Amino acid sequence: MTVRQAEQVGLYFAAVTHMHPQKEPMPDLYPDTARVLDFLVDLLNTPSPTGYCSEAIACVARAFTALNIPQLVLEHTPKGALIIRWPGEHDNMPRGLTAHVDTLGLMVKEIKPNGRLKLTQIGHFMWNAVEFEGVTVRTADGRHYRGTVVPLHASVHINRQAGEEKRTDETMEVRLDARTQSAAETRALGIEVGDVVTIDPRVEVTETGFIRSRHLDDKAGVAALYGAFQALSSAGLRPSQTVTVLVANYEEAGHGGATGLPGDLHELVAVDMAAVGEGQNSDEFSVGICAKDARGPYHAGLTQKLCTLAREAGIPYKVDIYPYYSSDGEAYWFSGGQAQVALIGPGVDASHAYERTHQESVLHCAHLIAHYLRS
Ligand SMILES: [Zn+2]
Repeated sequence: MTVRQAEQVGLYFAAVTHMHPQKEPMPDLYPDTARVLDFLVDLLNTPSPTGYCSEAIACVARAFTALNIPQLVLEHTPKGALIIRWPGEHDNMPRGLTAHVDTLGLMVKEIKPNGRLKLTQIGHFMWNAVEFEGVTVRTADGRHYRGTVVPLHASVHINRQAGEEKRTDETMEVRLDARTQSAAETRALGIEVGDVVTIDPRVEVTETGFIRSRHLDDKAGVAALYGAFQALSSAGLRPSQTVTVLVANYEEAGHGGATGLPGDLHELVAVDMAAVGEGQNSDEFSVGICAKDARGPYHAGLTQKLCTLAREAGIPYKVDIYPYYSSDGEAYWFSGGQAQVALIGPGVDASHAYERTHQESVLHCAHLIAHYLRS
């Protein structure tokens, strides 16, 4: 390198420095791992199939209230969703965030002549994803009965081909842990068509940092939002722009984000799981940023902004396409929402089955949300 070249390089760096003056160093904004995990495990263990979310909504409200952020305003919509508003330093470009507490579940479709229960699915999943899983039937008068989802032919000692039979609404049933052999006996327990049946989450946090559970979609996303708020408030900060969080309770039915958010939002970031699996770019150790899902592309500008924020903060992220997926961000758009919408979330393996993520993915997602709130 000649002196002249060195001078040119020097001038270049001077120009770059001039164009991008050094900002105040960003506080860490990293969430407290133990608090995020404690909240997530608590939420995972609170059953909340779509339409039956009041306990989970209460669990979320308790956790956000316990953050002791004085300016936080919590409200419930008539539909049962939770709204959390945090006034920002500015209010000229208000922002929204949304994640959903509702999950997959089951409902009693028929009481069979043998006393067992025929089911209908809440949300969409493979029947073999819940085969031999423990469930709780919740009656209208508040009684709970345990049981198991079993195929009609559940013993290879009786049916050699039991494993080969197709699993459908017709071939799966609940075997109740109650003494009943007739529809009348089951009805006498207080069980009726329309009763909700919750699926055991089987939550396990391993020493290696993995979180194995059903319903990480989207309780891991709700935990990431909680982590972001916790990180910001612990750093003594508040959002740059006023932010409204919709903790939705009807996402799996497709309309969680259709109501509840203010009409004047400029941006909405939906926080929902990144789909991990064969052919996918997403993983369980980074934050997923969705460019496009089954309903089309998200807003390119806001998506790019989130990628840039992640890069600048050193947060690992994976941009990806989720082929059979839609979100409350799109429910908001379809209901007439005018804001830019993007989607980020923790990476979840085996979604809508026995799911798994790693705590790093949840924490990176929280970290990115915190940086977004300060941007
Ligand atoms: Zn979801």
